Amino acid sequence: MPALYTLLAMVFLPALLCGQEYPWTPPQTSADPCKVPEKCEAPLVGEARDYGAEAAAAAEASPRSTPALQGCTDSQKKNILRALNGDGKKKFNGAKARVLTAKKVLDATSLTPELQRANQGSKAIFGAGLEITGVTITETLGSMNKALGSPALRCAKPADDEYKYCEARPAFIVIGQTVVWLCPDFFKSSDESRARTLVHESSHLSGVGESQGESYCMIFSCSESCSDSGFLAADNWASFVNCAAGEASDEADVITAD
Ligand SMILES: [Zn+2]
Repeated sequence: MPALYTLLAMVFLPALLCGQEYPWTPPQTSADPCKVPEKCEAPLVGEARDYGAEAAAAAEASPRSTPALQGCTDSQKKNILRALNGDGKKKFNGAKARVLTAKKVLDATSLTPELQRANQGSKAIFGAGLEITGVTITETLGSMNKALGSPALRCAKPADDEYKYCEARPAFIVIGQTVVWLCPDFFKSSDESRARTLVHESSHLSGVGESQGESYCMIFSCSESCSDSGFLAADNWASFVNCAAGEASDEADVITAD
């Protein structure tokens, strides 16, 4: 009997990270977009296919106990560290604690209420429960945890070539680089939003990415999906982490007619 905590990913996902090592190594299918050259030559930057296998490898090879924060002001550093580490009082959990807690919930050896909630969340958010075939969700959470343990973060400035990718994004990753770029929008948002963004970016560092653009979750909830891309959508991972870690779900806007 497959144990619930043996969490397996889907086998039918096409390898969307054209030509790069893909941590889940899903089998090639006839829908492999890499067989369509123009799709494989999509921009190598931004929120679409914004993953470098090198990034994960580098993070693993040279762990740092403190994050490298390049080009950031003291005020920005403070906000980044709070988003990563939380407030230290458990009133606000940072990105690291969320991913670690989610991983621990999934590592349970018995069917705890937390694991049941995570399973329901997985079904709603990814479109598949925790008993699925492929490589494990816990493996990806482990990789995200590692990425957040020693992140290289850089505050984008107008003089940076990459700054143009800040348009409409709080943060991004460029293939071939090992750094997460943080944009002005990141610092304009709330602590909660910043923590979610860091979880989102850590999923990219762990091999999660969509071939053509990506969608964002407006509502983080254990009962709602915000993308049809399942395991390929970084924000699905961010929402799932929140759910599995027991963070409060967002309330959907109540629309009243009068
Ligand atoms: Zn993204």
